[in-house]
Amino acid sequence: MPKYKRIVLKLSGEALAGSNTVGIDMDYVNLIAKQVKKIYDSGVETGIVVGGGNFWRGRDENNIDRATSDYMGMLGTVMNALALQDSLEKLGVITRVQTAIEMKQVAEPYIRRRAIRHLEKGRVVIFSAGVGNPYFSTDTAAALRAAEIDADIILLAKKGVDGIYDSDPNINSDAKKFDNLTYREILNKNLKIMDATATTLCMDNNIPLQVFGIDEEDAMYKVVCGEDIGTNVK
Ligand code: UDP
Repeated sequence: MPKYKRIVLKLSGEALAGSNTVGIDMDYVNLIAKQVKKIYDSGVETGIVVGGGNFWRGRDENNIDRATSDYMGMLGTVMNALALQDSLEKLGVITRVQTAIEMKQVAEPYIRRRAIRHLEKGRVVIFSAGVGNPYFSTDTAAALRAAEIDADIILLAKKGVDGIYDSDPNINSDAKKFDNLTYREILNKNLKIMDATATTLCMDNNIPLQVFGIDEEDAMYKVVCGEDIGTNVK
């Protein structure tokens, strides 16, 4: 039985790239979509915030004005949203993509009350283009949308790591995994799981977060059913 009524799932762009670092791997997207369908079938209202790091990260390019570069990153998230939508709809999951930057020919603009209505009607809402402003991240978009739609929890699905560690477990074999953390500890220990803006937004609005590895079988469903996999943050 699902533990939560309404969730926000944050998928990084990297997660949609499969074994590559750039672009979209549709075989991998289809695997993610199958996991989402399982949550959908269990009746949990699901909003998904997609990242764009598989196409562009604004801060990584010094030769382009930062704001312009960030807008490019936001456009990348829309491509990811459309790929995920296509994959989900092929599985029979009803979806709506909303964009924080208007592009009406492509998808609906983000309208909070409309998003909530979609969720109530059992549609998966894919939130794209971040918060619609440069200098922010899609993690912050996940925190903001979760607060706005009154989600019970944010699921932070990670690729290549199965929770929060005190150092990168792919580099340091002695890295220690945390089962439970507070947002204050994330800030104080300077843990690189989310940027400070997103962390603070979650902390100030009491939104719990569960960080887990997307490659574990049925990971999303386990989290939705209240299993303590990965790291819980409160
Ligand atoms: N971005 C932005 N404002 C937002 C969300 C994203 O400017 O509200 C830009 C920013 O340049 C970021 C890029 O879009 O680097 C891709 O998003 P993010 O890095 O959060 O994606 P992820 O790491 O989750 O794949």
